[in-house]
Amino acid sequence: MRKGESMGLTEKEAAERLKTEGENVFGESRKTGPMKIFLGQFKDIMVMILLAATVVSVLLGEISDAVTIILIVLLNAILGFVQEYRTEHTLEALRSMTSPTAKCWRDGRLSEIDAAFLVTGDIIELEAGDRIPADCAVLKAAGFFSDESILTGESTAVGKTAGDASDRDNSLNKPNIVYCGASAVKGTCRAEVIATGKNTQMGRISEMLTDIDKEATPLQKRLAELGKVVAVICLVVCIAVFGAGVLRGENVFDMLMTGITIAIAAIPEGLPATVTIALALAVSRMMKQKALVNKLHSVETLGCTSVICSDKTGTITENKMTVTEIATVHEDYYFSGMGYRVSGAVTKGGDIAINPMNEKALTESLRCGVICSTAEISTQETPKSRNRGALAGKGEWKVTGDPTEAALLIAAAKAGITKESLSGNCRIIEEYPFDSETRFMAVHCSYGSEKRIYFKGAEEVILPRCSQYMDENGRPAAMTAAVRRGLEEKAGEMSDKALRVLALAVCTSDKLEPDRGNLVFLGFAGMTDPPREEAKTAIRKCASASVKTVMITGDHKKTAVAVAAKAGLLKGGMAITGAELDKLSDEELDRDIGKYTVFARVEPVHKLRIVKSFKRRGEIVTMTGDGVNDAPAVKEADVGVAMGVTGTDVTKQAADVILMDDNLATLVNAVEQGRCVYANIRKFVRYLLSCNIGEVLTMFLGIVMGMPIILLPVQILLVNLVTDGLPAIALGMEKPESDIMNRPPRRSDEGFFSGGLMWKIVLRGVLIGLSTLASFTTVMRLGGSVEVCRTCALITLVVSQLIHVFECRSERRSIFRMNPFGNMKLVGAAAVSFAVLAAAVMIPQLQVVFSTVAPDIIQLLAAIGFSIAVPLLAAFF
Ligand code: ADP
Ligand code: MG
Repeated sequence: MRKGESMGLTEKEAAERLKTEGENVFGESRKTGPMKIFLGQFKDIMVMILLAATVVSVLLGEISDAVTIILIVLLNAILGFVQEYRTEHTLEALRSMTSPTAKCWRDGRLSEIDAAFLVTGDIIELEAGDRIPADCAVLKAAGFFSDESILTGESTAVGKTAGDASDRDNSLNKPNIVYCGASAVKGTCRAEVIATGKNTQMGRISEMLTDIDKEATPLQKRLAELGKVVAVICLVVCIAVFGAGVLRGENVFDMLMTGITIAIAAIPEGLPATVTIALALAVSRMMKQKALVNKLHSVETLGCTSVICSDKTGTITENKMTVTEIATVHEDYYFSGMGYRVSGAVTKGGDIAINPMNEKALTESLRCGVICSTAEISTQETPKSRNRGALAGKGEWKVTGDPTEAALLIAAAKAGITKESLSGNCRIIEEYPFDSETRFMAVHCSYGSEKRIYFKGAEEVILPRCSQYMDENGRPAAMTAAVRRGLEEKAGEMSDKALRVLALAVCTSDKLEPDRGNLVFLGFAGMTDPPREEAKTAIRKCASASVKTVMITGDHKKTAVAVAAKAGLLKGGMAITGAELDKLSDEELDRDIGKYTVFARVEPVHKLRIVKSFKRRGEIVTMTGDGVNDAPAVKEADVGVAMGVTGTDVTKQAADVILMDDNLATLVNAVEQGRCVYANIRKFVRYLLSCNIGEVLTMFLGIVMGMPIILLPVQILLVNLVTDGLPAIALGMEKPESDIMNRPPRRSDEGFFSGGLMWKIVLRGVLIGLSTLASFTTVMRLGGSVEVCRTCALITLVVSQLIHVFECRSERRSIFRMNPFGNMKLVGAAAVSFAVLAAAVMIPQLQVVFSTVAPDIIQLLAAIGFSIAVPLLAAFF
C-alpha cells in the first residue's frame, strides 16, 4: 500500500451501510426462544394425560389434590426449563465463538473483523485456507483458486482472476467473482464485497442447510431407545396396577390417577435431555480450558480416543523458532539470544562477536531469508529508530506471520539486515508462496539493476536444484559432488540436533520460474523449536491412559526424531517418512502402523492415509491439522481437531474440536473430560434407573400383595421432584476420578451397561422397593394408621435414594471409602431434597397437601433404618 492512499471503507461508512444492508448472516438465528423451551417441558404425553386427569378431578371436586399436582408439574417444568435454557445458552455462545472472521480494510488499515459486519464496498484480503465471507469481485489475484463445490457440486478448484471492478453481478460460475461459503485453496487475492447475507448465492440456498448441532449423539440415541423400552415396561406395570386395583374394588378414578402418576414418575423421559445437559456442561468446561467443541457428539468420542495424531510444529513444540546456526559452504555461524528476544550476536563458535558485513555468503543468506518472508517483526520503538543500536535494547520482537520466517527476520536483524534496510535496493515483483506440498517458496524481485529469484525451502527440495554455491568472497563457484555431499552431511548433522533446516538459494532471472534448476546455494539456516513443557506432561498422561500419541510433521525425519526424543515421545517407536509410506501397500501399512510414532516429511495426503489405516485397525483416531490441505484428514478422523491460532477457516470448519491455544495438553485435557462426562452419565443413569425401578416395584408389589395403595399420586410426584432433578444433575458434575487417565480407553462399541452395571441397577432397584414395602408393613404392624405407614414409606423411599446417589459417585469404590463431601453440589442437592421431604412431613399445612402425618420416634427410626439397610444389604452381593 502506498502512503496517503486509503483503501476500502471508513468505519463510519461501514456502520451506516450495516444499518441499511443488515448483518452479513443468513437464515434466522437458530436459537430456541425461552417460551418455546418452557412449553416444550409439557410436550410429554404422560404429563398431558396427568394434567387432563387433574382437570377431571377438579370437576369431580377434588380441588386441593389437583392444585398440588399442577404445582408440582409446574415446578418440574421450571427445573427442566432452567437446565435446558442454560444448555441452549452454552450452545449459542459456542456457535458465536466459531463464527467466521474476515481480513478487511477499514480506515485504511487491515484488520480482522467478524464476518457478520461486512458490507458491500468493503475490501477484503483472502488467502489459502480462508472461507470466503461474502460474494466479492476480485480486484487482484495471485495464483488464487477457490473450491466452490458447496455451491456448484464441482469438486475441482477454479482459478480466479481480476475482472471489471464495477461488475456487481454475482451469478454463479464467473471467474472474477468469489462466492460466500466457498473456500480459498491456493494463492492470495484482494476482493471487494458486492453482496452480503441473504443476497449472496449461498444466502439464497441457505434454507437447504441443515442444522448439524442438534443431531443426537450415539449415546443419546441409545439412551432414547432404552428409555422407550423402560417406558413400555412401565406402562405395562401401570396397567397391571390399575387393573389389579380396580378388580380389588378400589375407586376407578383413583386407580387411574395412581397409574398415570407412576408412569410419570418412572418413565425416564428426561434421560436424553439430562445427557444433553451433561454434555453441554462438559463443553462449557472444555471451553474454559481452551478447547472449543463444535459438536456435542465429539465429547463422547473424545473419551474413546485410542490414538492421537498430533502435529509437531506448534502443538508439541512452541512454534517459537529461533535461528541458532547458519551454515555456508565455508563457515558455520552461530546466533545467540533465544526466542523473540531482540538482542543477540553472531559468532563463529567462540565468544567473540564477528562483524557479519564482512561475511559475504552469510549476509546474502540473511538477505534471502528477509526477502523470502511474508512475516513481520516490530519492536515498541518507532520504525525510524530500528537501527542496530535500538534493537539491542531490552524486550521482545512482536511477530506476525509464519514463525519460520519471523525467525529468519530476527536472525537477519541481529546482523543489521531488515526489510527497511533492503527496501532501497530491492523491490519485490511477485511471490510464489510456501506450500507444505512443494516445501519451498520463491520471490522474484529486482535487486539493484538485476532481476533475481530468491528461494528458501526444505534441503531436499532446494539443494538438488543448485548447480553453484556462493563462496566466501560472494562469488558463485561450481557445486562439485564433494561439496554437495559435504552439504548433505551438514544438513543431517543440524537435523540431528533437532534443528529445522532451511536451504537458501538465489538465481538471476527475468521472470518467476519456481521450478528453475541452476540455483546458487547460499546457506542452511538451522532453527530450534523447543518442545512445550505441557506437551511433555500430556504425552506422559496419554501413555498412562493407554492412548498412543504419534507425531506428524513436514519436517525432516532426523529433526522430527530428535524433537520426539526431547518431548518424551519416541520410547522405542520408529519413524517413517511420507515417501516410505508411499511404498507400503494398505495391507502392509495396516500391519505395521502401530510401530511408528513419528511420521516425517509428511504431506496432507499421507495424513489421510494414516487416519484411515488406524481406523481400519479399529482405533478411535483424533487428528490435528491446520493447513487447508489437512481438512480431509481432519474430517475423516473420529475426532478432527483444528488449531485455533494457526488453523485455517476451512480446517476449523471441518473440525469437531478447535484448540484455542494449539496445545497438545489442551487436547489431552479434553480427552480426560470426555472420559469423565461419559463416566458421569453412567453414574446418573444408574441412579435414575435404580430409583425408578424401586418406585415402580413398591407400587406394583403393594397392589399385588393386597396392601392399601402404598403412595398417593401427590406423594409419588413429590418423590419424583425431590430425587430426580437436582441430585442427578449434580451427579453429572462429578469431577474426574483420580484414576480416570490410568485406564485404557473405553471401546466405542462397548455397551452402555458394561461391567455389570445393569445387574447393579436392577439389584438396587429391587432392594429399594423391598425396603420401602418393609417400612410400610412394619409401621402397620406397630399399629400405625395408613397415613403414617404411607409417610414412613415415603421417608424410606426418598432417604434410600438420597443415600444411593452418593454410592453412584463411583463404580469402583464403595460408599464407605469415599469422602462424602467430595462433590459439594451433590451434598447441596441432597440437603435441599431432604429439607423438602422434612417440610412435607413436619409442616402442618404441607401435611394437608401431601396427606402426611408426623411419625413418632419409633416409626421414624424404622423408616430411616430400612433406608440405611439398603447399602448394607447391597454390600453382601
Ligand atoms: P510442519 O508439519 O512441522 O508444520 P511444514 O509443512 O510447515 O511442517 O514444513 C515442512 C518443511 O517445509 C520444513 O521442514 C521446511 O523445510 C519447509 N518450510 C517450512 N516453512 C517454510 C517456509 N515458510 N518457507 C520455506 N520453507 C518452509
Ligand atoms: Mg508448519
